[in-house]
Amino acid sequence: MKILFLGKAGSGKGTYSEMLSREFKIPKFNSGDILRDEIKKGTELGKEISSYIDKGNLAPIDIILKLINKYLSDIENFILDGFPRNLEQVKLFKTNFDVIFYLKCSDIIILRRLVNRRICPKCNKSYNLITIPPKKEGLCDVCGSRLVKRIDETKEAIKKRLEIYEKETLPLINYYGKKGNLIEINGDREINIVYNEIKSYLKKLINK
Ligand code: AMP
Repeated sequence: MKILFLGKAGSGKGTYSEMLSREFKIPKFNSGDILRDEIKKGTELGKEISSYIDKGNLAPIDIILKLINKYLSDIENFILDGFPRNLEQVKLFKTNFDVIFYLKCSDIIILRRLVNRRICPKCNKSYNLITIPPKKEGLCDVCGSRLVKRIDETKEAIKKRLEIYEKETLPLINYYGKKGNLIEINGDREINIVYNEIKSYLKKLINK
């Protein structure tokens, strides 16, 4: 089973891919986390990646493809979040997804979520101070590290990311829509309602 999540930053791709991954035991890969992990290693490659993503720009295609292929080369079943992100990546990756969940959200909800988002710099777990707060204020539930705001979640970088989404990623909705395996989900709603809807589509697909 190959599953892809599409949607703007803050639409919930990471949250739902993690929930599905845990419940259905399918490994998930988030291209943003893969890039951030490389930055954490402090390598030359990490520094190069940082110069793009901190400002909200896409990482170069050769870098992202190399990293993604390293993780996915031998895997049959996976959930992808954040990749492919434009038509160039779709063409180079050459993978047929069984289902694509498109989380459609309004801008006002997205901005509210991004302002309140915090992440764990160690294990990448994501929180929302209002809807998914950590059990202990400011600390990761999983590893206890101090939560931080993402570097690319300044006003300028968010604006840039949303512009790039409109220009580069939105055409994928049309592309996969025509193929017939894209499911549009209203991502503005409460987490459990959205998750149950995603799950019911997935179960139908698995039992087909
Ligand atoms: P995300 O965690 O999905 O919001 O991604 C954070 C940042 O990582 C993006 O703003 C891009 O700079 C970079 N990034 C993530 N996925 C990709 C991709 N598929 N292609 C290029 N850059 C990416």
